[in-house]
Amino acid sequence: MAEATEKALNFIEQIIEDDIAAGKNDGRVLTRFPPEPNGYLHIGHAKSICLNFGAAQKYGGKTNLRFDDTNPATEETEYVESIKADVKWLGFDWAEELYASDYFDHLFEFAKKLINKNLAYVDDSTSEEMAVMKGTPTVPGINSPYRERTIEENLDLFERMKNGEFPEGTHVLRAKINMASSNMLMRDPIIYRIKFATHHRTGDKWCIYPMYDFAHGQSDSIENITHSICTLEFVPHRELYDWCIENLEIFPSKQYEFARLSLSYAITSKRKLLQLVNENYVSGWDDPRMPTISGMRRRGYTPEAIREFCERIGVAKRDNLIDVSLLEFCVREHLNKIATRVMAVLDPLKVVITNYPEGKVEELTAENNPEDHESGSRSMPFSREILIEKDDFMENPTKKYFRLAPGLMVRLKHAYIIKCDEVIKDENGEIVELRCSYIENSRSGNDTSGIAVKGTIHWVSTAHAVKAEVRLYDRLFKVEDPSREDGDFKDYVNQDSLQTITAFVEPSLVNASLSEHYQFLRKGYFCLDRDTTPEKLVFNRTVGLKDTWAKEAVK
Ligand code: ATP
Ligand code: MG
Repeated sequence: MAEATEKALNFIEQIIEDDIAAGKNDGRVLTRFPPEPNGYLHIGHAKSICLNFGAAQKYGGKTNLRFDDTNPATEETEYVESIKADVKWLGFDWAEELYASDYFDHLFEFAKKLINKNLAYVDDSTSEEMAVMKGTPTVPGINSPYRERTIEENLDLFERMKNGEFPEGTHVLRAKINMASSNMLMRDPIIYRIKFATHHRTGDKWCIYPMYDFAHGQSDSIENITHSICTLEFVPHRELYDWCIENLEIFPSKQYEFARLSLSYAITSKRKLLQLVNENYVSGWDDPRMPTISGMRRRGYTPEAIREFCERIGVAKRDNLIDVSLLEFCVREHLNKIATRVMAVLDPLKVVITNYPEGKVEELTAENNPEDHESGSRSMPFSREILIEKDDFMENPTKKYFRLAPGLMVRLKHAYIIKCDEVIKDENGEIVELRCSYIENSRSGNDTSGIAVKGTIHWVSTAHAVKAEVRLYDRLFKVEDPSREDGDFKDYVNQDSLQTITAFVEPSLVNASLSEHYQFLRKGYFCLDRDTTPEKLVFNRTVGLKDTWAKEAVK
């Protein structure tokens, strides 16, 4: 296809382009990302971040980061800090950092405005009574006996609610809309409730708090947000969103909904992820198996890969489950471009090269990344005793086995061709050592041997190799869609999702850094873990080189 072909607009971009063409908001685009600070962000939020920030960027607009912190019970400053760090790491800058709680005074005035317009009233009914009067989707509700209170009485009661004169649950403020509406949310929704809770920012200043539906749209409006993008479960809320804005006569922000991202073999709900953390199924929010942004970062995923994934899945209007293999593909594709190639042996077998002089060490040249010629090279020590992977040797090789076997030759990457002369076993018949010989004039880059071998294997020099803890991860859940299974989603946690082994890595990795990515040749992509100490290197496997799950499906 011609490279000039333009990518089709997603439906949000289409709406924005239409608005700009129609001269709406003088062509201004202002979006917001509105997380509730009650947990760490996950891959679903990454989708929302890319969409909100991406759409604004594309049309010369801006995006606010707004903490939706109107519920005092669950929010913590730790979460606020983690959210900021995650958005920045993904590569986005917000125009303003805002808090819905900063609008509490404003929202209180809005509520009084509705009362003054005879569009809100204080209800003394119990929550059970209100539930009964609400009706059902097929049966209209009935009016509360408190619905016709006078404006003065409502203003007085609302003020006294604010002043802490009433216990929790005794009074609420409701919008006066329509108890027979086919939209249950329009049946006189509660807009303020009493809650004697300390808020993470406003402390004990308030004992009444606005409900989501009375805070969100109004916050959008206060900030002059042009396009308020949210997920599909808010479709029924849109009517109320518009009603509030219209009756408060404030800036007409507009709400647009897209499908939530769900990822196979993962959970995308902060509430459920919190359970995994609290009940020690994982080591924390940033456990590398978690679909959180902090978990993916620690695992070695890159912001580029996550953004590319969000771009590829597009913006859907219907819920669907996205295959985690696509995310892994994007990670692999990016790491292939940037990862430093190194050698590490995960399951070692000793090899002695009998015709190589004892005590001799050669420094061989190894290029850092064949995909990036500017990445340079490093030196790799070679000596008489090396380690190779156990499964790179087969005593009775099958026809298509091109690695090491008795009497056969293989090339050692960056080094020489060797031939296996003898297999040494212990008393149990286990292979413990191979005795090999090397072809002196076969050195990589200077090979005059004329010998062609089919296989190349990786290795490390035993005397120079460094021990490292390597953490191999598998999917955190055994089933594709754990939240749709019967019973508790935690019953489907994969108990074998973490395997810890000791590997032998080439000595250059002593200087490994947390910001770098590595390809352990033939073994996958890895990154240094923050558990590393001066005494012990710890690596995480980010992703394998191939999609092993796809292979399994073919078997
Ligand atoms: P959770 O259920 O995980 O707590 P949430 O929707 O309650 O998610 P918020 O902090 O309120 O989390 O979300 C902030 C923004 O991110 C909202 O606009 C929300 O619609 C969006 N968002 C949350 N989860 C997803 C998801 N899975 N896919 C796309 N967008 C999401
Ligand atoms: Mg929410």
